[in-house]
Amino acid sequence: MKSRFSASSSQTDSTADRIAPRKDLGQNFLRDPNIARNIVRALDVQTGDAVLEIGPGEGALTALLLETSARALVVVEYDTRAVEVLTKRFPAELASGRLRIIHSDVLAVRLDEVFPHTSEPLDAAPLKIVGNIPYYITSDILFWVFDEWARLLISDNAASAPHKTVIMMQKEVAQRIAAKPRTKDYGILSIASQLVSEPKLLFQVSPHCFFPQPNVTSAVVEFQMKSNRDAAEAYRTVHPLVRTAFNQRRKVLSNALSSVLQKERLPDILHAAKERKILYFRQRAEELTPQDFVRLYDFIREFR
Ligand code: SAM
Repeated sequence: MKSRFSASSSQTDSTADRIAPRKDLGQNFLRDPNIARNIVRALDVQTGDAVLEIGPGEGALTALLLETSARALVVVEYDTRAVEVLTKRFPAELASGRLRIIHSDVLAVRLDEVFPHTSEPLDAAPLKIVGNIPYYITSDILFWVFDEWARLLISDNAASAPHKTVIMMQKEVAQRIAAKPRTKDYGILSIASQLVSEPKLLFQVSPHCFFPQPNVTSAVVEFQMKSNRDAAEAYRTVHPLVRTAFNQRRKVLSNALSSVLQKERLPDILHAAKERKILYFRQRAEELTPQDFVRLYDFIREFR
């Protein structure tokens, strides 16, 4: 019998492996095997790596991830029907313990509970994260990755922090991630992404590669996560300042940051900035690089 999705290319060969897509869960299943292969290739899985996949759905990426030399693969899926499909599709890998399915909202997952630092065989295995994620929560998922990365690097569980993340998302979001200062796409997400990683837009993906086709073009982004604790601390402390600065994007920072600068100290701060040729307060948020924000934070801290 012909599959009801037969118009699109398929990596699975039976309708038992398929679920009716739910729009409210952002279900646009990847149907192009070449794109799936390119995503998994971009993750560059090495022997001994541990991999977490966000939103495996029917398993388009999962099947290929199981062909790599990853030591362990944990997939986090919210939809019960997809969990059932995956359970039927990969019985041997589940039985051996190499694959684990977590039936949950990914935003509720704590990486060190999934990959405990002390347990064998995952002790100190480099962790990589991958996903063709639900687009309705792209930004929540990205900040979940960043916050988990920072929390783990700062804790005594740094080995559980992700090393690399490869995510498919809307092209517009991908462009914001890689944007440079003084461009319309540059903002909170660009700065956060560039504080935690070296992000790179790898390639675009046409709507034709999915079932059902999304209304937007997609893109795959690689985040080479930084591995030093200082970077995690900088992200954690500077991020609230960046948010405040961009809340009033059109204003110069002496005005946009007035809520975080102590009013009675403001003349001293602006005077000291002038003396030390720190020009940030006369600029708008979109003119500062991520490193400028770190310097600005350190400067303001002197006056607390
Ligand atoms: N990775 C599969 C693929 O490429 O065909 C599915 C991609 S689909 C765009 C997104 C998947 O994320 C769906 O399977 C959906 O059920 C799942 N999902 C949606 N919200 C989720 C959440 N909060 N936590 C975990 N998975 C979620």
